[in-house]
Amino acid sequence: RIRFDRVEKSFGRTLVLPPLDLTLEDGEFTVLVGPSGCGKSTTLRLVAGLETLSGGEIWFDDRAIGKLEPKDRDVAMVFQDYALYPHMNIARNMSFALRLARQPKARIDSEVRRVAEMLNIAHLLERKPAELSGGQRQRVAMGRAMVRDAGVFLFDEPLSNLDAKLRARMRTELAEMRDTIDKNMIYVTHDQIEAMTLGDRIVVMNEGTIQQQGTAEDLFANPVNRFVAGFIGSPA
Ligand code: ATP
Ligand code: MG
Repeated sequence: RIRFDRVEKSFGRTLVLPPLDLTLEDGEFTVLVGPSGCGKSTTLRLVAGLETLSGGEIWFDDRAIGKLEPKDRDVAMVFQDYALYPHMNIARNMSFALRLARQPKARIDSEVRRVAEMLNIAHLLERKPAELSGGQRQRVAMGRAMVRDAGVFLFDEPLSNLDAKLRARMRTELAEMRDTIDKNMIYVTHDQIEAMTLGDRIVVMNEGTIQQQGTAEDLFANPVNRFVAGFIGSPA
């Protein structure tokens, strides 16, 4: 379980997240939606430890993680801008965390291959990130997180650069991942279909505050305000 307890984030004098309270149960696939600039990536980066909290605390079960180093948080993240290592080939990008964890080479190789085949990038393993298309890079970023055995998975618009066909296929893969592994997943997207089909719980944000959270059915049938209705696409 992940709990945000009065979490605050400011950049200089700009308050991006006013105190935010949110609890995510184990095994729950949570989708964060909201307009550009509302604080979705910042929220994920706080969980991953890539930004420091300005106030409040984040709890993984009964453990306060707000001051832990990113590597001590058991979190795997797919970045909105991919953040691949440019000097490493795709196989090494994908295996980076496993190599840090000193896993046996044979295991690393087979795991990288399994995930690469699933994501249809197995033929690209020897290339460097600069030699890939945007959509291919996006799948590598996804693969780098999926080879890991983390307790928490954070996805920042992982399908935004894919064509409709790939996107639909990846959505199916993600739904399978959601149903087969009992992890906490927080997924950021602009795509309403993605939010509605993947989210056990959907959290609608605006300007750093949670407007409403619930199942797709809840939000669609009973939006609390026009903003939520507009975002979810229900009749206002
Ligand atoms: P998008 O959908 O465009 O990715 P987002 O919801 O992920 O948007 P964030 O990246 O979390 O938005 O940004 C939230 C706000 O914080 C924005 O107004 C942004 O300009 C600001 N912000 C983010 N990072 C920084 C930073 N390092 N320094 C200053 N301001 C920042
Ligand atoms: Mg973002």
